[in-house]
Amino acid sequence: MRIILLGAPGAGKGTQAHFLQEAYQLPIIATGDMLRAAVAKKTELGLAAKAIMDAGQLIPDNIMIPLVRERISQSDCKKGYIFDGFPRTLPQAVSLREAGLDIDLVINFVIPDEVIIARLSGRRVHPGSGRIYHLEHSPPKVANQDDLTGEALIQREDDKEQVVRHRLNVYHELTEPLVNYYKTWAESEQAHAPEFFTLDATQDVQRIQEQLHQRLGGASYEHGYA
Ligand code: AMP
Repeated sequence: MRIILLGAPGAGKGTQAHFLQEAYQLPIIATGDMLRAAVAKKTELGLAAKAIMDAGQLIPDNIMIPLVRERISQSDCKKGYIFDGFPRTLPQAVSLREAGLDIDLVINFVIPDEVIIARLSGRRVHPGSGRIYHLEHSPPKVANQDDLTGEALIQREDDKEQVVRHRLNVYHELTEPLVNYYKTWAESEQAHAPEFFTLDATQDVQRIQEQLHQRLGGASYEHGYA
């Protein structure tokens, strides 16, 4: 089964990707995580990507498309995968279609910008462990300190409000057209057309999980990719 999670940054795709991974034993291809790992390791890609990511811009398609092609050619992707954060532009989506990589399901997470701004700009991270806090919804016991180590929490550069607003503009301009692209394709009922499913991403995590489970639970996606 190949699934695309579509939606603005901060819509909750990553959280649900982990649920789908558990439920269907599929790897998550999270391009943002792949890039952050490259930045941390200071690889050539990471050094080139850091400033672009910190500014909330997109990495060029001619870098992203081969990076993802290489990742999905690995053996753990034989039975499918969950894309989180890819495709993010029309050329990225077209590259999948032209490669004959049929997508079974596109899940579109819908959420107003203001909800995302409140979610992301309140987020704080413990850099050592990746533990995530939220100033309002799950604050640390002591302000600005990790609960377990007492070390300082940071705000990701790209979670700062100005950058979040910019990321949302980039999303509306470059990624949102994919909603129509996949919806139209799904409605065409052509062979290999994906299914398209919209969900209200303002709901709590549990409720969204139930909806995904209901939607996918009885479905059979036995494509047996070679
Ligand atoms: P994310 O964690 O998915 O929000 O991604 C963080 C950042 O990584 C984005 O703001 C982009 O700079 C970059 N990025 C992730 N995925 C892509 C992609 N498919 N195309 C271009 N840039 C990407």
